[in-house]
Amino acid sequence: MLRARCPYCGRPFSVSREEAAGILARALTESARYGMRECPFCRRRVKIGLAELRRVAPAGAELVSPVPEAAASPSPEPPAGTEAPTPEPEEEVPPAPTPQVRRERTEAAPSGPKRSRR
Ligand SMILES: [Zn+2]
Repeated sequence: MLRARCPYCGRPFSVSREEAAGILARALTESARYGMRECPFCRRRVKIGLAELRRVAPAGAELVSPVPEAAASPSPEPPAGTEAPTPEPEEEVPPAPTPQVRRERTEAAPSGPKRSRR
């Protein structure tokens, strides 16, 4: 939750994490220096610093653009307390079999007299 204060009407309002993530994502796509959030009281656009948005936005929110479909699927979060880091198993890539290149002697182009020499 991000606390912001409208500079126009002077009333404080809060921005939820999801909102902050959306504002941050939009600001980044527009390469803006700050996010814009409409004041719920006077409906004017209030600037919110990107640093503040980053602080409250969920991790990785700025990398993923807010897709409504993603919100439908619940992300499996590991139960708190049991910290079991699962290292990515490195798949052993079998060595690619070296193709048997038949060393056929490429016939040298006969420098026949037919070819016009330059
Ligand atoms: Zn306001």
